[in-house]
Amino acid sequence: MSEYYIHGVNGPVVTVKGGRGLAMMDLVHVGDEQLVGEVVGVEGDTATVQVYEDTTGLAPGQPVVSQEAPLSILLGPGLLTNIFDGIARPLKTIEEQSGAFIGRGLNLPALDTEKTWDATVAVKVGDEVKPGTLYASCPETSLITHRCIVPAGVSGTVTWTAENGAYNVTEPLIEVTGQRGRAVKLCLAQQWPIRTPRPMGQRLAIERPLITGQRIIDTLFPIGKGGCAAIPGPFGAGKTMTQHQLAKWSDADIIVYLGCGERGNEMTQALEEFSELLDPKSHQPLMNRTILIANTSNMPVAAREASVYTGMTMAEYYRDMGYHVALMADSTSRWAEALREISGRLEEMPAEEGFPAYLASRLAEFYERAGYIQTLEGREGSVTVIGAVSPQGGDFSEPVTQNTKRFVRCFWGLDRSLAYARHFPSINWLTSYSEYAADLTPWYDEQVGQSFAACRQRISNILQEEAQLMEIVKLIGADILPEDQKLVIETARLIRVGFLQQNAYNDIDTYVPLEKQLRMMELILALYDGGRKLIERSIPLNQLKDTGIFDRLAKIKYEVPNDRLSMFSEYERAIQEALATVEQANI
Ligand code: ADP
Ligand code: MG
Repeated sequence: MSEYYIHGVNGPVVTVKGGRGLAMMDLVHVGDEQLVGEVVGVEGDTATVQVYEDTTGLAPGQPVVSQEAPLSILLGPGLLTNIFDGIARPLKTIEEQSGAFIGRGLNLPALDTEKTWDATVAVKVGDEVKPGTLYASCPETSLITHRCIVPAGVSGTVTWTAENGAYNVTEPLIEVTGQRGRAVKLCLAQQWPIRTPRPMGQRLAIERPLITGQRIIDTLFPIGKGGCAAIPGPFGAGKTMTQHQLAKWSDADIIVYLGCGERGNEMTQALEEFSELLDPKSHQPLMNRTILIANTSNMPVAAREASVYTGMTMAEYYRDMGYHVALMADSTSRWAEALREISGRLEEMPAEEGFPAYLASRLAEFYERAGYIQTLEGREGSVTVIGAVSPQGGDFSEPVTQNTKRFVRCFWGLDRSLAYARHFPSINWLTSYSEYAADLTPWYDEQVGQSFAACRQRISNILQEEAQLMEIVKLIGADILPEDQKLVIETARLIRVGFLQQNAYNDIDTYVPLEKQLRMMELILALYDGGRKLIERSIPLNQLKDTGIFDRLAKIKYEVPNDRLSMFSEYERAIQEALATVEQANI
């Protein structure tokens, strides 16, 4: 007989009585089927538990068993290439054991405990170790070496080691004996409570970009490795597509992709697409650096609440090995809605739009776990967080978007009218911003070209000028604008169509290296400068337009393969020829 029992059930929220009282955040197994739950409230002799599985069939009187520890997940080799639910249960294994529907009460660890890995022990008997010391490693995938680091709370002398060889994740590899004589065995895997940020050496400045190959992001609104960005946008504006593009092409070592409360078929699609694609740098399968976490709209709401912490804990775990990790969360709004639903069931006082008053602090805690850091081992690692936000009706004034804005420094606002016009990515260049741009300029100057920041500024200015001119055009038409302003409008159109629009379905255009981005900007600006000179000599813009040079530049994105940048000299020549032709005609 368990000392605790179910008192009442309200959706995913269960009240529990009995025993000496449960402790806050304790993991519990609830009911005859032992469903996984977590204590979220304690009052008098009654504890409130949120259950991560469908609670159908739970009834008062059924037993509840405390695990006397917070919700933790098993971290180790085998996370990569895998797909998990919100509390890190492996979905493929569950499917094998219970069919397409997740069996309840299947308390499986994240990792296959039978599979063996080719482990190399990195310490010897007599070595002193402390949190951060590398003690073993194994090849996890063709892309990633798994580095086992002594966890927080363990230090002392190595008193035993295993031979190098094949071990599963729970077989001991070394034994560490502390000062008081207490011995701890470490293996390839370790447990970590998901709601506790993992310890780090120190935070470092964000100075390197996460290169995405998406022009509008890399040039106008770049994100630094270790930074946070939000992608808000109405339904169908391209949030998921943008997240997929970043997961496929960004230069992170590891991708944790979290499908949170969105449609299930999108996750299936992600899994299929990522499995087929190769990493652009290494030409290895993309899944070899990817972890998927699926908590789709048809899965239990409380597990959705937990899923962001599961994803973040996995991201931090690889960060601590010295990797650069990008965590995509699609969508944080669905996560906030899970908070709202649970809060309602707990009968908490609602704040704005029914969200709990702690919405802002939960969002802050989540985004604060991002960062560029020195690991305990002394290496550099990072977690970059990119959260999609899906406000009802695309209204950015609602609480999730507004609060998210307070904690991210990069805002890629998707725009319904751009999406309707098939301008993709539909990132609005007037409302979006990146506060990282200035911090990253030295890196761009050094690694891409001295002119990068200047080009970015000029491109951005032309777009701003266009926006102002369009106000006038709306009132009185374009015809009476002076020629130099017509040139601004024509150049801005070229920037929008030939540079900002980027087709994810086109083999060449889907990913564009920084050098090509710079060369494209330089050409557009060279044409603009040439056009200005003609206009100064009172030559109408139409003559330059008639040469077809603007249209030709708009097609560069499809016509210059990423590995044939030498072709740019042809376009330089074409610009010079067009300018010369017009000049000749006006002598
Ligand atoms: P959301 O997640 O915001 O609801 P999706 O990401 O599912 O929207 O995008 C909806 C559709 O928009 C996609 O199926 C695709 O056809 C189109 N789309 C979005 N971004 C792009 C892009 N970069 N290139 C081409 N098509 C895009
Ligand atoms: Mg979507």
